[in-house]
Amino acid sequence: MNRLLLFLNIILISLAGSRGYLEPEEFVEEHQEEIRIDDIDLTLKPNEMGKVMVLMLHSIEDEDGVWEISKESFKKNLEYLHDNNYYLVSLKDYITGEMVVPAGKTPVVLTFDDGLKNNFNVVEENGELIIDPDSAVGIMEEFKKENPRFNSTATFYLFGTNPFRQKEYLDFKLNFLIENGYDIGNHTYNHAFLNEINSKEEILFQLGEEAKFIKEFIPEYEINSLSLPYGLRPEESLQEYLVRGEYEGIKYEHIGILDVGSHPSYSWVDKRFNFKEIPRIRVSRTEEYQESEEWYEYFEENYDLRYISDGVKDIITVPEDMKIYINEDKLEGKEINIYNREMLDND
Ligand SMILES: [Zn+2]
Repeated sequence: MNRLLLFLNIILISLAGSRGYLEPEEFVEEHQEEIRIDDIDLTLKPNEMGKVMVLMLHSIEDEDGVWEISKESFKKNLEYLHDNNYYLVSLKDYITGEMVVPAGKTPVVLTFDDGLKNNFNVVEENGELIIDPDSAVGIMEEFKKENPRFNSTATFYLFGTNPFRQKEYLDFKLNFLIENGYDIGNHTYNHAFLNEINSKEEILFQLGEEAKFIKEFIPEYEINSLSLPYGLRPEESLQEYLVRGEYEGIKYEHIGILDVGSHPSYSWVDKRFNFKEIPRIRVSRTEEYQESEEWYEYFEENYDLRYISDGVKDIITVPEDMKIYINEDKLEGKEINIYNREMLDND
């Protein structure tokens, strides 16, 4: 963040303090009920029609690469997001508009594809299972301890029958994830080239067989999102089976389908948001590939384009210049709060 923005932020935050700004830790459902439109702090420039980054990661390694990110770089990403007014949310909460994001913060979603061992590695020490602190989950758990207000969470997209590559610990891992606020998504049974599949049965198999496999370990959990391997899709007539289907008695329904690349996504309540094609930004820090770095910088320079929460789940605060994009069908009883953010600049 550049100095001017940082300075402005400090001023905004201190102004906000005098107006009853709720600290993130005070963000509990009880408070949510009490807040009225008049309590919303407009000096934070809430913009719930702004853009959201869904970040895509694969492997945590020693060195940065195109599809890999080093442990250090992953930690730096978390620190950057934390220090720059972002707040982690689950993909599901983002899509359904159920995010509870502190006022003034921008939601951001983390996703990991492929279920590699370095995403979630465990080691057994004196009969006890220890999460490898260098694996993605280990790094996030540590970050959570240091920054309890940041809501460290991610969705892991799994394929095949050996996700995270330690079969003996799979039961522990899947249960640990869902008990600790992470999510699990479908990445097909064979990491399939879905563009080469031309029968309904094969799509149902690819999605249903994987869902069935994971359900054996976490029967109560609902897998409701899909990350397309290589970002590829079958022909148009088969695409409905990406969204929902039934396979060997198991029904699946995806409220979000994720692409590979390469730009921020619309707000969940924006007419242009398409749950079947959610773009993702690749986290990378090599000289050649800096997709995430470029978007971080973009949102520093274009702060007004970010989704900025008003702090209240059931009130949607939208600057007047963006109200034409509101998708009324999504509101379901939520209140709309329109304000003129240019007026605010002129005060
Ligand atoms: Zn993949």
